[in-house]
Amino acid sequence: MRDKMRKSYQVQKEVAQKGCFEGEIALSELKRLGELLQLDDAGVDGRTIAVNFEFLRSEFDVPMLAGRLQTSLELECQRCLKPLELPLDVNFRLLIDASDELLSHSSEDTVYSDDGYIDIVEVVEDELILALPLVAMHEDTACNENWRASELSAETPVKENPFAVLQQLKTTD
Ligand SMILES: [Zn+2]
Repeated sequence: MRDKMRKSYQVQKEVAQKGCFEGEIALSELKRLGELLQLDDAGVDGRTIAVNFEFLRSEFDVPMLAGRLQTSLELECQRCLKPLELPLDVNFRLLIDASDELLSHSSEDTVYSDDGYIDIVEVVEDELILALPLVAMHEDTACNENWRASELSAETPVKENPFAVLQQLKTTD
């Protein structure tokens, strides 16, 4: 059975109790994501992220946070500039406060606690940002009948592309 989600968790206590939680986060709480995607109020109103996760001990005897988040975001198609509904379903597994040495032998990522506490909203926001596509486009490649690949490459720099920022985050991380 899963307990109702809170915002902050004391890692050692939750690992000892094998804490297991579920809940929802309002998209409007994720300010960094909203800024990156240039979401306006209409893009976030009423939208939520369903989250479930558990604390456990990894095979390296380090605390771990494992979970899943599901949501749907409204992005702008970079081909026709019309709204694009993007469903996201992300599984995450993060070591907590793993040493650099451990990370060098592990395929898992780590998250750092703040004095032994984890803020789940921060974790979910980071995972969502990493899961976003660099360029969002409708699956239907004919969504903009005036679009041609050659024109796109010649004309795109007109508007600042929020996904370019995401790409920098991914590569410098
Ligand atoms: Zn489109």
